[in-house]
Amino acid sequence: MQGLMMQQPLLIASLLTHAERHHGGQEIVSRRVEGDIHRYRYRDLAQRARRMANALASLGIQPGERVGTLAWNGYRHMELYFAVSGAGSVLHTLNPRLHVDQLAYIIEHAQDRVVFFDLTFLPLIQSVAPRVKSPKIFVAMTDRAHMPRDLDLATTLLCYEDLVDGHSDAFDWPLLDENSASSLCYTSGTTGNPKGVLYSHRSTLLHTYAAALPDSLNCSARDVIFPVVPMFHVNAWGLPYIACMVGAKLVFPGPALDGKSLHELIEDEQVTLSTGVPTVWQGLLAHVDAIAGSFSSMQRTIIGGAPCPTAMTTVFQERHRVDVVHAWGMTELSPVGTVCSFKAHQASLPVEERYALQAKQGRPVFGIDMKIVDLDGNALPWDGAATGDLLVRGHWVTREYFGGDDTPPLRDGWFPTGDVARIDPDGFMQITDRSKDVIKSGGEWISSTDIENVAYLHPGVATAVCIAARHPKWDERPLLLIVKKPGSALAAGELLAFFDDRVARWWKPDAVVFVDSVPLGATGKILKNQLRDQFGGHYLSA
Ligand code: ADP
Repeated sequence: MQGLMMQQPLLIASLLTHAERHHGGQEIVSRRVEGDIHRYRYRDLAQRARRMANALASLGIQPGERVGTLAWNGYRHMELYFAVSGAGSVLHTLNPRLHVDQLAYIIEHAQDRVVFFDLTFLPLIQSVAPRVKSPKIFVAMTDRAHMPRDLDLATTLLCYEDLVDGHSDAFDWPLLDENSASSLCYTSGTTGNPKGVLYSHRSTLLHTYAAALPDSLNCSARDVIFPVVPMFHVNAWGLPYIACMVGAKLVFPGPALDGKSLHELIEDEQVTLSTGVPTVWQGLLAHVDAIAGSFSSMQRTIIGGAPCPTAMTTVFQERHRVDVVHAWGMTELSPVGTVCSFKAHQASLPVEERYALQAKQGRPVFGIDMKIVDLDGNALPWDGAATGDLLVRGHWVTREYFGGDDTPPLRDGWFPTGDVARIDPDGFMQITDRSKDVIKSGGEWISSTDIENVAYLHPGVATAVCIAARHPKWDERPLLLIVKKPGSALAAGELLAFFDDRVARWWKPDAVVFVDSVPLGATGKILKNQLRDQFGGHYLSA
């Protein structure tokens, strides 16, 4: 027998309609590329998104066609999130930190019809434009007064505010098939060509419901949310959608991601919830430390994209009374997969045990299922010890890549994440490595993440990276690369001795190399492959 409930498609535009109707007076604050702070309300967002939807139609953008954005977190980008997807086209967020060759590849591959860009990225647009056949239209996300002059892009250059001003705000969001494509994001491609992940309205809405839950990102109408994670990478973890669903105030950092600018905005706007990758928070904490500052309103920070070292959790929680929530995800998962929220019996554990738990990436949000398998694909026990390849499936996990690239990724209906993990009896997953970063010493795996976490406990360490270096006897041995804190006189012997009671003897790195900095990829992650190229022969030459 069939249920007798309404069938309403799950559509992105409905989030905006809801926000306008029920939270129309709620604020959205953005630091702009133009340098000032801009503020308006959800009702303005909704009205301008409708104008932009009309503008897109006037440019001849058809349903299903891709619209690129090369932009920071800000209100105009937010308008495009809803105008483009809401009208049935596909929002293609481009990562400006990619190399121009990769950007050109991605724009061509996606066949973007038009690219919207923040003025910061004008030089990038000028380099990319001659290399691509599509698009023929570029839109500078600014007003007439700030429009660049005397450009020779050999294409049409339009002004964002002219488009908004020139069109009516009467627009009826189409009733789309909920399975139609809404947005597109390419994985940053540390190996091979970038691959496109094509989200649907349905997958986005289900992800939005799940990610807003208390044991997920925990967002409500009483929150002031500060997405520092970029809107150009996996939709800023879905926060633009979540904020509309719950009616939270939004604060966008724009291009200013240094510690001082972030801290000012957090305090001025009384942010309650911030989200970012560990490297960004390092800059913020260093600044707050230097000015002996504090956080007067921030209650929680969600840290993901790379492992959150316990040392960072400790500083946030003990010095600043800001709860850290560690989360794991990927582009292919929209991105939220697991979140480290305590179960009832864990909340009262001794503090050291809670810190050990918080170093884990957490348990799946409902809608995601996971397992770990050995090299033959056999499921491994959840005993907190066995490590294997992490596989996932769920409502917002990709099934294949855009454009049919690559062999279809699924294995028996499960998506192989490329991460290596263990799972404890409570179902808390802990990443021990990327499969390509694993250290195999004498046939046994050593977790580079565990070693980095120990190094971070030393007060002289600013950044720690553990890589596999080739070894004549053991195939590979861990090598530790360290960026010291300014003024630290840390010596290699002292740091190695620090490992003595903290890891199994054979896990202890054989050597430490001090470096001035480490290379970061387009999403702020450390590029271990580059470091392996540079230092992988360390034990052979020693
Ligand atoms: P890319 O795969 O292009 O680097 P993603 O943002 O999709 O970009 O990265 C997903 C990967 O980032 C995961 O597969 C995992 O290796 C890593 N990652 C994400 N969150 C965490 C975390 N909390 N701890 C450890 N690794 C993480």
